[in-house]
Amino acid sequence: ASLFGAVDMAPRDPILGITEAYNADKNPNKVNLGVGVYYDDNGKVPLLECVRKAEAQLLEKAAPRTYLPIDGLAAYDKAVQELVFGADSAVVQEKRAITVQAIGGTGALKIGADFLKRFAPDSQVWISDPSWENHRALFESAGFVVNSYPYYDPATRGVNFAGMLGALQSMPAGSIVLLHACCHNPTGADLTDEQWKQVIEVVTGRGLIPFLDMAYQGFGDGIDADGRVVRQFAQAGGPLFVSNSFSKSFSLYGERVGALSIVAASTEEAARVLSQLKRVVRTNYSNPPLHGGQVVATALATPELRALWEEELAAMRVRIREMRQALVAKLKAKVPNQNFDFVITQRGMFSYSGLTKAQVERLRNEYSVYAVDTGRICVAALNSKNIDYVVDAIAKVL
Ligand code: PMP
Repeated sequence: ASLFGAVDMAPRDPILGITEAYNADKNPNKVNLGVGVYYDDNGKVPLLECVRKAEAQLLEKAAPRTYLPIDGLAAYDKAVQELVFGADSAVVQEKRAITVQAIGGTGALKIGADFLKRFAPDSQVWISDPSWENHRALFESAGFVVNSYPYYDPATRGVNFAGMLGALQSMPAGSIVLLHACCHNPTGADLTDEQWKQVIEVVTGRGLIPFLDMAYQGFGDGIDADGRVVRQFAQAGGPLFVSNSFSKSFSLYGERVGALSIVAASTEEAARVLSQLKRVVRTNYSNPPLHGGQVVATALATPELRALWEEELAAMRVRIREMRQALVAKLKAKVPNQNFDFVITQRGMFSYSGLTKAQVERLRNEYSVYAVDTGRICVAALNSKNIDYVVDAIAKVL
């Protein structure tokens, strides 16, 4: 038998499959709400001005393309750590946090998972039900058993908080709990500050290992507000894992810029953790790519570019909010007997719209409006030109 004779076809990625079908669609009115990407009002992925300016500076320098250290560009790691925890936070001041540049948020999760498998091999992982579809596969591929805790409540279109807290209260000590720091993907339903307080109490009280995934900082209520939960967890003491991504917040998807930060109990412990994390990186891909890290480090550390970034990120956040409000107002006008206010409460790029699989199919087949079968729509793909068409189509299938 040949080596590849036994290789069966892997299932298609459900979300990338939607985009393939969308690309092949000839309808000029087609709209792709299945993506996880921010588009501007012209339906384009923006190149941020702060990125363009940082790149111009880098081009001017014409520096050689040497290897980065295993843990990435030092200026990047420092800037990210200060962004994530706050420059004056105890964990940064006391050097109890380490930050390693990673290949996007995905790469950060993967090196975190590989590290955890080496030092907590018998722990199991818990992810929200539902979660970003790659979370389960990623931790399973690192060798973990992955379970889920209750999260989304279809009845309220919000969080089943009692269910979530109950699950946390019954997990064995040492369990790894993956939490979305803000802008939950796929539901858009986030915890309140009060609920986070309770979660932090249970997680630290029971000796669970929190792993915060922050892929959308700045898309909810603002950079600081969205990062608050990370700081609160850090204040509660380690261990803590934080993966963050600039794919969305810098619109740098293909440059693969993210980071993993770990909070330890002491400076000395942090140094040992870093040394082992570097081994994980070294045996995976040796060291991270240069360009994206340089762009983000330059933008974060140059006051003028930093201010520009904050403005541009705020503009993306505000536009998404406006689309949420417009969607609700327009749906109300067409379908007055249904309440869509939950769409305004939801945070970030996504909404669990409540559309059923059958309704999603009709949207696709009859109107060329593409959403995920679960009813997840990307609000950031709506714009002033396509929203009326989308609302008409949704009203017709409801
Ligand atoms: N975590 C979540 C919750 C995400 O939604 C995503 C990407 N959409 C990632 C991680 C991965 O981010 P990246 O594209 O930077 O790898």
